[in-house]
Amino acid sequence: MIHVCLSSCPDGAEAALNELRDYQAEVDDEPSYAGQVEAAQRLWDRKRKNKPISVAREMLLRMCPSSRYCMFCEDSRGSDVEHFRPKALYPELVFAWANFLYACSRCNSPKSSRFKVFRPDGTILDVTRKQGAPVMAPEPGEALLIDPRHEDPLELLHLDLATGRFDARHEAGIARERALYTVGLLGLNEREYLCDARQDAFEANESLLRDISALRQAGRPQAEIARKVNALRRHPHRTVWDEMKRQREKVPNLKALFGAVPEALGW
Ligand SMILES: [Zn+2]
Repeated sequence: MIHVCLSSCPDGAEAALNELRDYQAEVDDEPSYAGQVEAAQRLWDRKRKNKPISVAREMLLRMCPSSRYCMFCEDSRGSDVEHFRPKALYPELVFAWANFLYACSRCNSPKSSRFKVFRPDGTILDVTRKQGAPVMAPEPGEALLIDPRHEDPLELLHLDLATGRFDARHEAGIARERALYTVGLLGLNEREYLCDARQDAFEANESLLRDISALRQAGRPQAEIARKVNALRRHPHRTVWDEMKRQREKVPNLKALFGAVPEALGW
């Protein structure tokens, strides 16, 4: 799970964002909350293939750090524009750019319309609407799920490079609850293939860094080195790379490699 940010905008981004605001106004104009929930679903179904959504999708794709992978698992190709806060609970955010994510269906399906929030005192509330329950606005609160668009998941998560498994970085409190909830809900450890892929990414990154160091020492042409650097940058599971940089002082092998190629800390 990786923190993402937008480095460049595609053509028409501003117009698309304005149109999204117009779409949202149609939802917000509904006088009742239940009416807004109904309008959010209806208008999303009708407009999701329209240009503003495809421009937003392109913007999300440009945010993915390594070749268009899901922002949650970083392993599968993302499939579509998804909502961080579910539209069934937060119709006021159905067309909100800040609420869009690029995720794979495997990550999005357990999340779907489930949502938990927490209050400043640390109380956690499940605001998921039960089947048949009255359509009422959820209790307010901060998202328990980590939002990779608006916070750095590694502030809350620790990745064990040897096993490829995530754990909470903090020993107690809401920071720990958020980490464990996110890993559990999205199945980030439960899916064995994800742990294997993170271990593979660690091996591959280490090997590429070693190659880059050797090529530099041998005085090889810059283009040859750049190919290796690009391969490293495009590799999925970018979190593994970020965690390697963070843990470099504790792992002698990494300390030596980053010492030999210090500019890698900026990659
Ligand atoms: Zn995913």
